[in-house]
Amino acid sequence: VLVRDLDAAALLAMRLINTYDPYQADPELLPSPSALRTFLRANGFAVDREPSRRDLANVRALRDSLRKVFAARSPQKARAVNEAIASAPVTPAVSGKGGDWELTYEVEDNAALASRLAAVCGLGLADALQRYGPERLKVCDVAPCQDVFLDLSKNLVRRHCSRTCANRLSAAAFRARQKPRRRARQAQR
Ligand SMILES: [Zn+2]
Repeated sequence: VLVRDLDAAALLAMRLINTYDPYQADPELLPSPSALRTFLRANGFAVDREPSRRDLANVRALRDSLRKVFAARSPQKARAVNEAIASAPVTPAVSGKGGDWELTYEVEDNAALASRLAAVCGLGLADALQRYGPERLKVCDVAPCQDVFLDLSKNLVRRHCSRTCANRLSAAAFRARQKPRRRARQAQR
């Protein structure tokens, strides 16, 4: 597989990390090899045969280590990315015609699933780190959500992964404001 679009690769990495969601009754969104296959296909990652149990375990381990790219402090962010791509089955190559040249990455098709996925996700996140800066790679602040996201706001002010979590945050703030008032009313009675 030829990796050209590193934005898409970073998006795949984030979606993979977000397949563990403590807001759900069962947080594990990749419970089986077939769920993994469905997830990968839906995200444009080629899988020619059913992943094995071992593939699934390795992908979950990859997911945990990629999470550090968002959850850890800056130096560890780089380490987590570098670990993912250090042994990745990938060959960089430059090619082109006229003025249109590009750097692409050929990922070995016969490498193990988790290794191919590590290559694509690692390249995507490496590119995101250098393009946007480590402080823009964040984890949602609305507990128990742990989703990761890219904060592209002007002043780095975004704290939540989605509109859903923004609403949860303002609902919680609203409840917190209501509580003391209710207590004050009861005291007056
Ligand atoms: Zn969230």
